[in-house]
Amino acid sequence: MNCIFCKIIAGEIPSVKIYEDELVFAFMDIAPINKGHVLVIPKEHHNSSSTVPEETGGRMFHVGSRIGVALKRGLDFEGFNLHLADGTCAGQVVNHAHLHVVPRGVEDGFHWNWRQLEYAEGESAETAERIKSKLKL
Ligand code: AMP
Ligand code: ZN
Repeated sequence: MNCIFCKIIAGEIPSVKIYEDELVFAFMDIAPINKGHVLVIPKEHHNSSSTVPEETGGRMFHVGSRIGVALKRGLDFEGFNLHLADGTCAGQVVNHAHLHVVPRGVEDGFHWNWRQLEYAEGESAETAERIKSKLKL
């Protein structure tokens, strides 16, 4: 399979490793938002986070959070974002599911463009029903 992250796990493409266990691999992002930006990926190839097994997804979140703490303690950041893009329209460029751990400082000059829309009366509940009708766990 022609997947850049699978090649990184296999050691065919170089990376700067932070952590590895039987389920996940964590390494430095080559083009960081802030220096220390890490990616946590499942060792098994999945295009989408939605097909990553629960144990592996849980490990990704756990390892990502602990790396976030290490970014604060080791690099003097004040916080971190965990970010996952699923789908091209959501900003996913590499089609091997990955969790970004982005170190953050109070005045680091980076701003997520996080807009806040408003619901009409009843629209939130109606939208929730449509979501729940398709939710399969
Ligand atoms: P996304 O836009 O969520 O798919 O993120 C893909 C991320 O992979 C970007 O932040 C890239 O900088 C990073 N990336 C791509 N190629 C490499 C590589 N060879 N080594 C490390 N990070 C990479
Ligand atoms: Zn892959």
